[in-house]
This record gives sequence, structure tokens and C-alpha cells, in this order.
Amino acid sequence: MASRVLRIGLIPGDGIGREVIPAGRRILEALPSSLGLKFEFSDLHAGFETFEKTGAALPDRTVEVLRNECDGALFGAVSSPTKAVKGYSSPIVALRKKLDLYANVRPVKTVRTAAKPIDMVIVRENTEDLYVKEERTIERPDSEGGKYAEAIKRISERASSRIATMAGEIALRRQKIRDSSSSSSSIHSHPLVTITHKSNVLSQTDGLFRTASRAALSAPRFASALTIEEQIVDSMVYKLFRQPEAYDVIVAPNLYGDILSDGAAALVGSLGLVPSANVGEGFAIGEPCHGSAPDIEGKGIANPIATLRSTALMLEFLNEEDAAAKIYAAIDANLEEGKLLTPDLGGKATTEEVVQDILKKL
Ligand code: ATP
Ligand code: MG
Repeated sequence: MASRVLRIGLIPGDGIGREVIPAGRRILEALPSSLGLKFEFSDLHAGFETFEKTGAALPDRTVEVLRNECDGALFGAVSSPTKAVKGYSSPIVALRKKLDLYANVRPVKTVRTAAKPIDMVIVRENTEDLYVKEERTIERPDSEGGKYAEAIKRISERASSRIATMAGEIALRRQKIRDSSSSSSSIHSHPLVTITHKSNVLSQTDGLFRTASRAALSAPRFASALTIEEQIVDSMVYKLFRQPEAYDVIVAPNLYGDILSDGAAALVGSLGLVPSANVGEGFAIGEPCHGSAPDIEGKGIANPIATLRSTALMLEFLNEEDAAAKIYAAIDANLEEGKLLTPDLGGKATTEEVVQDILKKL
């Protein structure tokens, strides 16, 4: 069988990033050879420690190797200094820009705590909205009301259309996977895409997001297979917490997506479980949703599952769905059995014990 070589950049970053990213590499190396996949790894640097050593949080070499030599990457975490440090800014934000990783994809799913089964993906636009960071402060005399500040919220038709298209593709893919798996464990019988906005107030910006998303999702391949609904973001939050099982794929502009995805992550119990991927054209970076977790750094108890799931998610966007499915299944088996869990899930196991258990199940 012909084999495909995937070149993966490994960027552990800071804190527990260094304890969990090696697990991502190990699970890729442990995939059965029948999948016909081979991996080549490049060890790359970014983060606060890199900044302190070299003066650059995101060295040029890291970007060049990712751009020219890699198919995908795994990114751990970077610590955010408590006070602003001159010259330092987040390398992952810069990387999303430089590689045009326009979508942030965050699946949120329960396995063990199935009191409320949840299985949703939040697809967040990653390049515009208030995150263009065009803010200014205008000084006025007190007699005129004093100073005020304002920020640009920029929404484009192109970015809205491509993020909605990605949400549609993800919904189709999820349905394909559900159809092909014999188990009836899925909580969704029909694929649903929910467009989130606040166009009742922001009729031009969110209004454009709404109409451009609608237009993209009216393409025949989507319209024939998917249910498309809209929800105003505030009522979305309410329903997300009351009835999370109702959601399948959610597409949102940058800010709402940021807030919704942290809120949804809270529903599943531990940040140590939640993966994400930063996705562009033909490139994906898997990134656990948690940060550098300084409170547990160096103790060997960080939950590796967010990273392992991010590794699988990266593979999905590199069109290796079978390999991804094997990793998800091994993780689910570990969680369902519930014997070897890290302390964030109420267990006593170490990172290493959980990794070994999942590799065994793979
Ligand atoms: P940062 O500034 O890097 O984001 P933080 O202090 O916000 O750091 P987070 O990494 O966001 O820390 O974690 C928030 C909480 O969740 C911490 O108590 C942390 O220990 C816990 N946590 C995060 N990731 C994991 C993990 N993989 N396993 C176990 N606990 C985790
Ligand atoms: Mg944090």
C-alpha cells in the first residue's frame, strides 16, 4: 500500500505544553501501519521562554519551517505574562495571521459524564471582527463628557462566507462519520448548522455576517443535506447552557465564537479535555484549549487528552479521517473505562500513565 508522509511541526511552547505535546507525537507514531501513514517531525520553538532567550516569541525559523516544510503542526501553550512585557506578543495569534489560519475549530463532546450528552463543534472566524484591534481613545474636555474610546468591528463578506463554508463542510463530514459508524451512540439524527449573530442590533456588521453565511450555506451540497438555523447570540448562550445537546455545528464571528467556545468547554468538566484546531487552506495546527497551567507545571499530572484530541483533529483537516477516528476511539475507551484518569477528572493517574493506557487501547 502506498504510504503518505506527513511532516509535522512540534511547538511545545511553555508550561505544561512541554509535558503534553510529546504525547501527540507518540500517538502519531503508534498509529497502525495499515493506515499507510508515515510522520516526519520538526522540533520548533515559540513562546515566552523563547522570547526571554532569543528576544522573539515567534522566531522567523519557526514560521519558515512551518510554511515550507510542514503539512501541519501541534502547538502546546504559551504563558501569558501577568503584566505587559515590552516587545512580547502572543505567538499563536501571530501564527494564525502569518499562515492565514482563518478558522478556529473547537469540538466539545462528553463521554463519561453522559448525564447531559454533548457533541458540538464551534467554528469561530479567526481573522477579523473586533480582533483587528483598531482601537483609539479620544480626549474631550469634561464639559463635553470627558474622554471616550472606540474600536472597529470589521466583518467582510469573504471571511464570513469562507467560515460558513467550512462550518458546512464540517457538518457534512460529521454526518458522514455518523452514517458510517454502526453504533447508534450519536445524539444527532440530522446535521444542523447554527449561525450566531446579533444582527437585530448590529444590522450592518452582524447583518453582513448573517447574509454572507446564509448565502454560502445555500450552496446545493449544503442545502440538500443540512438544516440551517440562526440564533441571536444572547439567546444562544441561554440555550447553550440549558440544552447543549441540541447543538451540532455552530458558526460565529470572532468575538462571539471566543466567548461561546470557552462557555461550552466549561460544560464538559475540564479544560484538559478540550481540543482545537487552527485551520487554513491545506494547513492545520492542533492546539489544546488550555493554557500553560503554571499551577500544575512540572508535576507530571497534566491531562494529555486535549492534546491527543487536537492531534486527531489536525489529522481530520489533513484528510486522514480514519487515523483520527482511531485516536478518538482509544481516548473514549480510556474515559469510558474511567480507571486511569488525571486529577482534573477526579483520578490519581499521571500524564504518563494516561498516555500509556491510550496507546495500549489504540
Ligand atoms: P495561561 O495564562 O497560560 O492560560 P492559566 O493560569 O490561565 O495559564 P490555564 O492553562 O488556562 O491556566 O488553566 C486553567 C486551570 O485549568 C488551571 O487550574 C489548570 O491547572 C487547569 N488545567 C488546564 N489545563 C489542564 C490540563 N491539561 N490538565 C489538568 N488541568 C488543567
Ligand atoms: Mg488561561
